Amino acid sequence: MKFLSSYFTFATAIAILFSFEPPSVDTHKNFVQCLYNYPHITNSISNVVYTQTNPSYSSILGMSIRNSRFFNRSSKPQVIVTPLDVSHIQATIICSQRHGLQIRTRSGGHDYEGLSYVAEVPFVILDLFNLQQITVDVENRTAWVQAGATLGELYYTISQKSKTLGFPAGVCATVGTGGHFSGGGYGSLMRKYGLAADNIIDAHIIDVNGNLLDRKAMGEDLFWAIRGGGGASFGVIVAWKIKLVPVPSTVTVFNVARTLEENATEIIQKWQLVANKMDERIFIRVDVKKANSSEHGKQTIQANFVSMFQGGVEELIPLMQKSLPELGLDRKDCTETSWIGSVIFANAVLVGSSVNEAPEVLLNRTRFRPGINKAKSDYVRKPIPVEGLQGLWRLLYEVPDGELQFAPYGGRMDEISDSEISFAHRSGYIFHIHYVVVWEEEGDEAAQRYMNWIRKVYKYMEPYVSNSPRAAYVNYRDLDIGINNNGYTSYDQASIWGVKYFGNNFRRLATVKTKVDPHNFFKNEQSIPTLSAEEEN
Ligand SMILES: Cc1cc2nc3c(=O)[nH]c(=O)nc-3n(C[C@H](O)[C@H](O)[C@H](O)COP(=O)(O)OP(=O)(O)OC[C@H]3O[C@@H](n4cnc5c(N)ncnc54)[C@H](O)[C@@H]3O)c2cc1C
Repeated sequence: MKFLSSYFTFATAIAILFSFEPPSVDTHKNFVQCLYNYPHITNSISNVVYTQTNPSYSSILGMSIRNSRFFNRSSKPQVIVTPLDVSHIQATIICSQRHGLQIRTRSGGHDYEGLSYVAEVPFVILDLFNLQQITVDVENRTAWVQAGATLGELYYTISQKSKTLGFPAGVCATVGTGGHFSGGGYGSLMRKYGLAADNIIDAHIIDVNGNLLDRKAMGEDLFWAIRGGGGASFGVIVAWKIKLVPVPSTVTVFNVARTLEENATEIIQKWQLVANKMDERIFIRVDVKKANSSEHGKQTIQANFVSMFQGGVEELIPLMQKSLPELGLDRKDCTETSWIGSVIFANAVLVGSSVNEAPEVLLNRTRFRPGINKAKSDYVRKPIPVEGLQGLWRLLYEVPDGELQFAPYGGRMDEISDSEISFAHRSGYIFHIHYVVVWEEEGDEAAQRYMNWIRKVYKYMEPYVSNSPRAAYVNYRDLDIGINNNGYTSYDQASIWGVKYFGNNFRRLATVKTKVDPHNFFKNEQSIPTLSAEEEN
């Protein structure tokens, strides 16, 4: 990462030189002209600027839309910039402010509410997909990864350098490291090593004045904020330095399905008691959805126990017999593989492909198309009683494609304090729930129907999950829990959604925001608010 020092003071001077002008009908033309005139551009910028008349505009816009709910939105960006280097990002930040355009930064585009590419105000997308460089330092067990790189690219690159190093982040290979790491990052190594955000040791961010800052230059408050608080409120993250973690050369995976007729409910009841207490090398997620029953023409509920164990099958079987014998795990259900093999396996479970694909499949950015969807999240402190689970199953029968994922806590997650980084949800949780509904029918009526369904499920779950506040995971973005106003939003108002995502860390996030972006340029429907002078005291 060679691009630091020369930009620091220079960009501040440029920011002052280019003072703000209110938006006009020619806003986007003036914005583009501003980019072209911007001094100190390293690579020519004209090839990476897409206005609505550019023939590639639609394909660039659509390329990373991972939720078809937002495909045909009329509010499209005036311009898309796909930077090749830091100077392009700096120019975009400064020129957007000058011409009254908002910025939406997009890395992998997986935001469940499309906040990286949808806005109701005139805006520019800064799409980082060209910034995908990854440099692995095996000796020091670290890597630099640019924010536009995907998880699949990161995992693949690590595996090309070492068979015994890995990184604890999410499952889906197309997820971008820019959004994912800044919001937390759950994955199958989390019980042993925590979240992706727990394993970040440095970062490069460009602030509202166009300054490129590393950890030392940004200071510990901002570095704390971008590890869990989401990146979009604070600037544009260019790259992360991460700590790689040791993984054994052999790991074991399984995906065992059990229907109601095969005692799925009883097994889940037991799973709730043990999954967070088991050896921290084992991670067993439960995916629950409707399925065809073995009885002809009938439907049932099926729970898939999807697991990764950091060790061989001989060690796993006795562990499972001791803790969760109800699952009846057999050697033939298990596959021994490498860590990268386990990543391919987990992605195959997600997209329904073969588990024997070559690692290069992780480099395919267009493979995962999640359709039209809506998601929500919850955290559980006490096991859900059997009648609570049964009510949940009844709701699952109501839609074709609703799914629940239960992900266990425990291990390293219990050891890290709620305020160590800005990701707040640690103490006392036994598992986390991810609700998703996916549909194919086009149109507003269908969308309303499925959104109502997931809201009904969420309401139903109220007695069984965390409360005061009811915690939610910012990476499973949900605008139902509250949004900012279009204009000024007070801290109290933003707290309605803010404490759900960030608990007691929300106040410190707002303090950091006030310091680094006092005029609230980096804003969206759920960006961290600035504090007024009154609120600061
Ligand atoms: C199919 C699927 C699978 C998923 N699997 C997991 C999982 O296993 N574990 C898990 O924890 N989560 C998972 N997620 C959620 C995922 O972590 C979040 O959606 C994450 O924010 C996506 O990051 P992104 O860069 O792809 O998204 P984007 O839509 O590009 O960005 C998400 C947010 O971060 C901001 N942002 C993006 N890049 C930057 C940047 N460089 N600087 C500043 N702000 C930035 C955006 O503006 C937006 O607000 C999954 C989501 C989907 C759709």
